[in-house]
Amino acid sequence: MDFKPANNIQDLQYFGEFGGVNPSISDSSTYTFLSAKTMFDTFEGNAEGCYLYSRHSSPSNLYLGEALAAMEGTETATVTASGMGAITPVLLQLCDAGDHIVSSRTIYGGTYAFLKNFAPRLGIKTSFIDITNLDAIEDAITGQTKVLYCEAVSNPLLEVADIRALSKLAKKYNLEFVVDNTFSPLSISPFKLGADVVIHSLTKFINGSSDTVAGVVCGSQEFINQLRDVNSGAAMLLGSTMDSLRSASVLKNLRTLHIRMLQHSKNALYLAQKFEDIGLKTVYPGLKSHPSHNLFKSMMNETYGFGGMLTIDVGNIEKANSLMELMQKENLGYLAVSLGFYKTLFSAPGTSTSSEIPEDEQAKMGLSDGLIRFSIGLDADIERTFMKMKECMIKLNILENELA
Ligand SMILES: *Cc1c(COP(=O)(O)O)cnc(C)c1O
Repeated sequence: MDFKPANNIQDLQYFGEFGGVNPSISDSSTYTFLSAKTMFDTFEGNAEGCYLYSRHSSPSNLYLGEALAAMEGTETATVTASGMGAITPVLLQLCDAGDHIVSSRTIYGGTYAFLKNFAPRLGIKTSFIDITNLDAIEDAITGQTKVLYCEAVSNPLLEVADIRALSKLAKKYNLEFVVDNTFSPLSISPFKLGADVVIHSLTKFINGSSDTVAGVVCGSQEFINQLRDVNSGAAMLLGSTMDSLRSASVLKNLRTLHIRMLQHSKNALYLAQKFEDIGLKTVYPGLKSHPSHNLFKSMMNETYGFGGMLTIDVGNIEKANSLMELMQKENLGYLAVSLGFYKTLFSAPGTSTSSEIPEDEQAKMGLSDGLIRFSIGLDADIERTFMKMKECMIKLNILENELA
């Protein structure tokens, strides 16, 4: 693929009100009108370029949305107050009571909890299926199915969805294909591979400084208009609007995303190879041992690598916890959920970010309790980081057991 997401972002040119190099932030919740007629037209969405009220739209949110639409190659996008604030309105916009969703079974814990526990209250049912098994996905589709949902690279197991093939299935059965691309910004461009709607939690790599929660929905003008409709739009009416100050700060961080992703990917590939070499059970899409290594390669925008996320399995939760505590003590990273920070973050998903998923289902999907999920940081000297991590593992007898 010769899609160039970073170029598309770079080619947008915004100036501030006074010729500033950053667009001005509109620090207002409401806007004045010279004529009452224009106010009515704006409310109905008929007055281009006019703002009425900042839950509807604001200049800062439109700038950020445009930049993210350019990144994903969609017509437009709408930004939201969090990743979940993007996911839930999209699903509620696309599904009525009685409708059905086919979802990957390895997805973000919050999304899983929404589909499993909340959506059924509204009459929306979900089948959770192994996303790498296309036959099982097809078998799960019923006459009521409206949406096919997955993550391009799944949380936390790093399964890779075959977006081209899933898109064909979605077209065959007339489903909306929604892809959460939080783990693989720039590397994978789901819309270009056939997704209808692409979602990100901006909280992670895209903002990259772990100082805010934010989200985005990228899609067609028609769908984004539906989400924002004042009478029936889920994004409008559920109110997960981003604040203008935050949009402005996320846009500034987006400017360096391509450089950060390069470093995250480079460091993660180095560590994954070294971890595998010393006998650790390591999962990283950039490793030849990853079952979907070639699939990832066939979908990726090459420049950005295989991303910053990897997992290792150290056997049991006690070892996982001691290792994480020791690595934090040695200042190799933080024992924290989330991802995409300059610092390496690690957590045991079974007891944190995926704890919404019942234990028996965790076991079924291969989410073992010795699993540690790493979001690899921007370390300048990753060789030194590896040596220190290895020392921690030796000290805790993790390597001997693994090698035995
Ligand atoms: C964090 C995350 C979300 C939720 O985003 P928030 O910004 O925390 O609401 C959704 N999907 C994935 C893959 C995530 O990692």
